[in-house]
Amino acid sequence: MRALNETHDRGLRSWVDSANSGATDFPLQNLPFGVFRREGRNEPFRGGVAIGDQILDLAAAHKAGVFAGEAAHGALACTGPTLNGFMAMGPAAWAALRLALSRALREGSPMQPKLTACLVPQAQAEHAVPAAIGDYTDFYASLHHATTVGRLFRPDNPLLPNYKWVPIGYHGRASSIGVSGQSFPRPAGQTLPRDAQTPVFGPSRRLDYELEVGIFVGVGNELGERVPLDAAEAHVFGLGLLNDWSARDIQGWEYQPLGPFLAKNFATTVSPWIVTLEALAPFRTEWTRPAGDPQPLPYLESAENRARGAFDVQLEAWLESAQMRAARSGPARLSRTSLRHAYWTVAQLVAHHTVNGCNLQPGDLLGTGTQSGPTPEEAGSLLELSDAGKRPVELGGGESRTFLQDGDAVILRGFCEKAGYARIGFGECRGTVRPAA
Ligand code: CA
Repeated sequence: MRALNETHDRGLRSWVDSANSGATDFPLQNLPFGVFRREGRNEPFRGGVAIGDQILDLAAAHKAGVFAGEAAHGALACTGPTLNGFMAMGPAAWAALRLALSRALREGSPMQPKLTACLVPQAQAEHAVPAAIGDYTDFYASLHHATTVGRLFRPDNPLLPNYKWVPIGYHGRASSIGVSGQSFPRPAGQTLPRDAQTPVFGPSRRLDYELEVGIFVGVGNELGERVPLDAAEAHVFGLGLLNDWSARDIQGWEYQPLGPFLAKNFATTVSPWIVTLEALAPFRTEWTRPAGDPQPLPYLESAENRARGAFDVQLEAWLESAQMRAARSGPARLSRTSLRHAYWTVAQLVAHHTVNGCNLQPGDLLGTGTQSGPTPEEAGSLLELSDAGKRPVELGGGESRTFLQDGDAVILRGFCEKAGYARIGFGECRGTVRPAA
């Protein structure tokens, strides 16, 4: 696991003023990576780092010659339209570039004149998915979500017997992953109306979001080579926000016996910024398993994972309806929870994914599954918050929701706070539902 070092020092200030506000998601201690270009320009996407309300253009910075040694090699790998090459370089290269960026963006840095010309305001940028994602796997790592949803789908048998032993997951679809800001048409499909014997076809009437964290694989592993638990995090580049949009009515009819299919693969939205595990180092926390629960099999068990395996990332879901947009009243918060409640850690998900010899590749994306906390208010989906549509969620302004309506935007946010450290955030992950095609 990444060690604390000078880049985490709360006292660091940047010559980019907006990075010092205390309220920004992107202080000097964060330095998340993404891919961007200036909006409306016919120019290539390239790597960038968020700093305050600006983006440092890594292609321009590399060209300006502000980095040396391993940091320069890392920056060069960020000059193209995806971060896969940089992700493949591994923790030493990631740390070298982070340290160089931290020093170059600090108050008093001699690099300021050269780098000032490499800044692009975030308000003038558009993003692409930060990596070419070869494969996307979605896990199911919240016991609270699995239990509540299991009860809705199978009242007599909510939690299947494998849940507490196996990190449950399925292979999702990479082609429909989009970056924050995307919109997509309400999916259509087969559903089985209540008390009906035959299905009907039409637009989903129970469209939902899922509040998840995305795990971007950095260094891959060879086919047939498993990644041990305590080596797993060396294969992880960083974390972002992920919305696994879900059509509950399609899901309810199709999901047995092989799991989610068309209920899930019409759209998945990720945040533009990937927060590195090194930036998250101050916010690690212990991972525990209740004494009465099965303890992990040896390949999913280690003292390091117990001591610091979890991440205390605060996660929020917000909804902005068409009415709220028209009235400029701002979105309504649906729920808030923390990634620390996950039943399995990031390292356990990676170790489990490779234990059979499955090869991960740079840029692969793993979803944690919907993150729901221990209380009903901490649920990460409308399915849970509305008790499967039986109890509308009040949004204020006379509006309520059981499931999503056309025009609704769902906004996921994430941040970390801890005494003695700078607050860092994930930006936002926004997606909007259009009417069915
Ligand atoms: Ca999911």
